[in-house]
Amino acid sequence: MRLDIISIFPEYFAPLDVSLIGKARERGTLDVRVHQLRDWAYDVHRTVDDTPYGGGPGMVMKPEVWGEAIDAVIGASAVPGGARGGGHVQGSDEDEGRDGGEARATPQASAPGSVVPPPVAPGTDAPGTVEPGTVEPAGVEPGTGASATVASGTPVLPRMIVPTPSGRPFSQELAQELAQEPWLLFACGRYEGIDSRVMEEYSGRLRVDEVSIGDYVLAGGEVAVLVMVEAIGRLLPGVLGNAQSVVDDSFAPGSMENLVEGPVYTKPPVWRGREVPAVLLSGHHGNVARWRRDEAIRRTVRNRPELAAALDPAKLDKHDRKL
Ligand code: SAM
Repeated sequence: MRLDIISIFPEYFAPLDVSLIGKARERGTLDVRVHQLRDWAYDVHRTVDDTPYGGGPGMVMKPEVWGEAIDAVIGASAVPGGARGGGHVQGSDEDEGRDGGEARATPQASAPGSVVPPPVAPGTDAPGTVEPGTVEPAGVEPGTGASATVASGTPVLPRMIVPTPSGRPFSQELAQELAQEPWLLFACGRYEGIDSRVMEEYSGRLRVDEVSIGDYVLAGGEVAVLVMVEAIGRLLPGVLGNAQSVVDDSFAPGSMENLVEGPVYTKPPVWRGREVPAVLLSGHHGNVARWRRDEAIRRTVRNRPELAAALDPAKLDKHDRKL
């Protein structure tokens, strides 16, 4: 699976080098490319935001910069409207004023978790410059001229995910759905978010989902993307040591639908006078499975009553209903 992430803080994605996701990247199961949005800004200050129409506090991310960045990443087109420059301006006064004091990111070298350099125009080696009017066919990887293809050889475009508190809720079900996609593009908003016309524009060309990771407001989309990438990445074939873990997890479609997992234990059998439930030491698989389901239902009723209420009565057995 290919993942492109566009952000003004590429360094947020360093954790994608470690643990399961880091290993999946090393093995090539996951191809993660992080892009610095400011590489597609027009002015010397690399401005990505402006004041909101209609007034009010905060700043809104500019559509032109996002359009350039997304076009370049999906390989659809890239028509520069002005000087892009090669160097990054860091911490200019204007930036602090316009960007609400958020520090600028500096692209890192191309190590794992690194920032992908700005696209190279076909037939040149100059980063960040693309011939005016150049239009590459959809599905062409930026700077390579090579088609992004799935195994069948069919050119594809990414499904675009825009994290926002106003989006549809992220869930295990959505993670499962997104894990089937060959290519995802994440657009990380900051400030008051991205100009809405960007989502409108790409809805005509790509599948665009605005997604919330919960009913609270973060400072930016980066952490939300980390959450989604980890939830999606661990579902990819071969990423988890034991594929059964996914089936037994909280919220897993099938027997864990609308259920959270019950308590888990390991050795020693007694710790500070606290004993592991005897059934788990019994070696009786049927009883262990029954106990686990009972505990999952009890915990769901206690901690997530709204999920318990949504349990499908047709999928509950007599014993479940007593709990
Ligand atoms: N003004 C926006 C609102 O009230 O809906 C909040 C903007 S928030 C300060 C800045 C960015 O953080 C958003 O554009 C989004 O990318 C990200 N973000 C914040 N909370 C999020 C959440 N719960 N789920 C996903 N992304 C979130």
